[in-house]
Amino acid sequence: MSLEEDDLKAQLIKTMVSLHSRGLMTGVGGNASVRIEGSDEVLITPSGLYKPELKPEDIVKIDMEGNVIEGIFKPSMEWYFHTAIYRRRRDVNSVIHTHSPYTTGMALAGKKIEPITLEAAVMLADVPILNFRYPGTKELGEIVGENILGHRAVILQNHGVVAVGYDLIEAITTIEVLEEISKMAFVAHFFGGAKLIPPDQIELIKKLYKI
Ligand code: 13P
Ligand code: ZN
Repeated sequence: MSLEEDDLKAQLIKTMVSLHSRGLMTGVGGNASVRIEGSDEVLITPSGLYKPELKPEDIVKIDMEGNVIEGIFKPSMEWYFHTAIYRRRRDVNSVIHTHSPYTTGMALAGKKIEPITLEAAVMLADVPILNFRYPGTKELGEIVGENILGHRAVILQNHGVVAVGYDLIEAITTIEVLEEISKMAFVAHFFGGAKLIPPDQIELIKKLYKI
C-alpha cells in the first residue's frame, strides 16, 4: 500500500467522523469513496460497519466492477452508484452519500432546492431529485450514474444525498451547503417563505464565477 493510499484512507475516516458528528448520517448509514488517482481502483467504506469508528484496515479497495482487490470486509452496498459515477465522470475523484435530514426532508415534501444563498447559486443551481429505487441495487446505480452528469449532487427520494467532487473536500462541501440551505429554507418556510436572490443578480454571480 502506497503512502498516497494511506492518506486517502485517513481522509475517508475523517470524513465519516465529521459527517456523523453533525448528524448528516447515522453510524451505520452513509458511505464514501475516493478514486486512486489516475487508476480504475477505488477505496470505499465497508458495508454495515459503524462508520465513525472505522480503522484504515477496514477500508476496502475495489475495481470498477465492485470486485474486492484489498480488504477483509464487503464494500459499501452502494458500490454500484459509486463506480457508475467514476466510470462516467473522469473529473470526479470522490463520492459521498449521506442521509442528510433537512435536504432529504425537503425533497420528501417535493420542494426543489432553491438558490437562496450565493454559494447555492454558484454551486447548486440545479439538484435533481431521483425517484425511489431500492438501496444497494444496480438499478439505483444506473439512474445515479445517468443523472449526475452536469451536477454536483443528486437527491435520492426517501433515502438521502449523493455528492461528487474533485476530492473529498469538494464533495463534503456540497453536502454541507445543501444541508445549510435546506435548513434556511425550512426556517423561512415556517415564517412565511424564502425570498430568492433576484434573477439579474444570479446572472451577475454566474458571470463573476464564469459558470
Ligand atoms: P453501507 O453500510 O453498505 O454503505 O450502506 C449504508 C447506506 O446508506 C445504504 O444506502
Ligand atoms: Zn443510504
